[in-house]
Amino acid sequence: MTQDFTIAVFPGDGIGPEIMAPTLKVLEKLQSGTTDYSLTFREAHAGAAHYQKTGESLPEESMEIAKTSDAILLSAMGLPEVRYPDGTEIAPQIELRMAFDLYAGVRPVTVRDSKYCPIIRPNGETIDFVLIRESTEGLFHSMGSGEVTCNEARETLQITRKTSEKLFDFSFKLAAQRKKAGQSTGTVTCVDKANVFRAFAFFRSIFDETSEKFPDIDTNYAYVDAMALWMVQRPWAFDVLVTENMFGDILSDLGAGLMGGLGLAPSADIGDTHAVFQPCHGSAPDIAGQGIANPFAMILSAGMMLEWLGHLNGIQQMIDDAGALKDAVNSVLAEGSIVTRDLGGTANTDEAAAAVLKLLEK
Ligand code: ATP
Repeated sequence: MTQDFTIAVFPGDGIGPEIMAPTLKVLEKLQSGTTDYSLTFREAHAGAAHYQKTGESLPEESMEIAKTSDAILLSAMGLPEVRYPDGTEIAPQIELRMAFDLYAGVRPVTVRDSKYCPIIRPNGETIDFVLIRESTEGLFHSMGSGEVTCNEARETLQITRKTSEKLFDFSFKLAAQRKKAGQSTGTVTCVDKANVFRAFAFFRSIFDETSEKFPDIDTNYAYVDAMALWMVQRPWAFDVLVTENMFGDILSDLGAGLMGGLGLAPSADIGDTHAVFQPCHGSAPDIAGQGIANPFAMILSAGMMLEWLGHLNGIQQMIDDAGALKDAVNSVLAEGSIVTRDLGGTANTDEAAAAVLKLLEK
């Protein structure tokens, strides 16, 4: 029996629509080869350009599409020159995280091809870890409501027991899944600043409490500043890292740098009932409209969506298709004749996506 899934599609701003279009083609290609599942795409408008046109950045009907879909595929949103009256940028992707309580920001850091990794690996070590960024509170808690006077500005960090327990539970389960798959040793590292802030000592104590439920998974701790150093010096030493929202925001770009750049960095924001899949990068207005953006981060994010839906609904074909998608991207990168500009080549968006599609046809 074919299981149908509705996917809310937010093409967004800047390079967003340019990388979303080939990604949908790739998904269509995959679903055309199976009767186990089918995908129905529902386009939803949101973002800076939409705000400019209508005065609304995330209209109610788009929220409704997102709410009633099985998964949300989102490209990139926001444009630096389009801002709310308070000076902040339009960021419906952050509003979606808050609205659907998408507490687990999953940022896999996988070096797909060593020629794009700026780190020297003395013994050819594998870099394959996952950064889990809490995505609904932390320093983003007061987003849009920080207090500013002419002499002082104040933003508040919030860490709650409820969200932290769910976040750590998710992280330990992911480590167990990776260990079972033979992908890693099964270690979760709590990244914080517990030596300075009471809020992070609280965060760490909940990490410790949760760890007791997972005796087969090892635990570790790192202060965020040390982690930035270690991610450069020995990134192969990590398995699952879990951290606060702002720390995760910064470290995930460092992770993208290890992989070769933002064009190769996918992500997912996962909650108990909804999930958004989007590349780590923004709308890249500096290259928008030229058709030269790297579509791989978006395509790999769509792969994460298939994997998530497959696990959630017990559909092995979706998990296999996600694997095929990752393999196809890895092969294009390894083969090295189709290379986008962000990675030092001359290929455009369509050529890069076509190379992936061609491999999926085989
Ligand atoms: P945001 O704050 O919205 O995350 P940002 O400030 O991190 O955005 P990006 O829009 O991600 O900025 O762009 C950062 C740089 O990376 C830009 O020079 C942009 O051109 C480049 N870049 C981002 N994504 C891609 C991509 N898919 N392909 C090629 N270059 C990209």
